[in-house]
Amino acid sequence: MSILDLFGNANKKTSKSDASAHWVKCKSCQSLMYYKEIEKQQFVCPKCGFHMRIGVNDRINILVDKDSFVEFDAGLKPVDPLRFVDKKSYVKRVEEGIAKTGRNSSVVSGECTINGIGTQLVVFDFAFMGGSLGSVEGEKILRAVTRAMEKRQGVIIVSASGGARMQESTFSLMQMSKTSAALARLAEEGLPYISLLTDPTMGGVSASFATLGDIIIVEPGALIGFAGQRVIEQTIGSALPEGFQRAEFLLEKGSIDMVVNRSEMKNTIADLLGIFLDQEPMTATRRREDSDDSDDDHEEEYKQSKILY
Ligand SMILES: [Zn+2]
Repeated sequence: MSILDLFGNANKKTSKSDASAHWVKCKSCQSLMYYKEIEKQQFVCPKCGFHMRIGVNDRINILVDKDSFVEFDAGLKPVDPLRFVDKKSYVKRVEEGIAKTGRNSSVVSGECTINGIGTQLVVFDFAFMGGSLGSVEGEKILRAVTRAMEKRQGVIIVSASGGARMQESTFSLMQMSKTSAALARLAEEGLPYISLLTDPTMGGVSASFATLGDIIIVEPGALIGFAGQRVIEQTIGSALPEGFQRAEFLLEKGSIDMVVNRSEMKNTIADLLGIFLDQEPMTATRRREDSDDSDDDHEEEYKQSKILY
């Protein structure tokens, strides 16, 4: 064994990536937490309640019944109709997005059950080109809505996006109307669409399907808007109020329907789907069965949630 091997091993053991993989710092209160612990808390800071950004897989695990998610249309891949080049070519950016995320687009779509209710689920991946909306993403949403109409199900879209994808220009902007038209047909069929907005949801996404939900739910503290705060301030020439474009501010102004904690998200969505589709979610039954000794707890939780939301 050469002496270099010893140094190689030593470096491996103390490498920054290994250490940082175990610890997470809360961006809000700066507390340092063990990764496994925060993972159990669904990536919500136990000290201050800050909702950290999470990846697609964690999001799906939190929302759906165990092992129920079946992905569709994973093979759909962007083309480059405009041969667009900015600092890098669009083709190169797509390649990098695929290498980084292992996905072909910024949307994962599929079918699942949520507390036993069959649902079409679409989740944006912010890690793939900032969760931007291009032709593939629009097509995947359309197909999810079509499947929902065929199977008489609801649609959930979880948005996390910087907006329309500039590298596809008008092709991208057209996805705003394409998705909106699809959701209008879903509404004509009397089927529900619940839009879950997560941090951040901006631009053409917030200006189309993300704010067309029968119910619009937002995670606490999430940034939701069209243009960024600085751009607006420069345009109107004055400062914006505290908390502008944050979930709680939007709720107060009536732009959204609910701010829901991540720990309550699955049950809330299942209950809403149950009401719209006239189906009873599994937890409703389970809650009643469990109610012997925990009635007071639920009562207390309910009171607190009323205050929070
Ligand atoms: Zn915190």
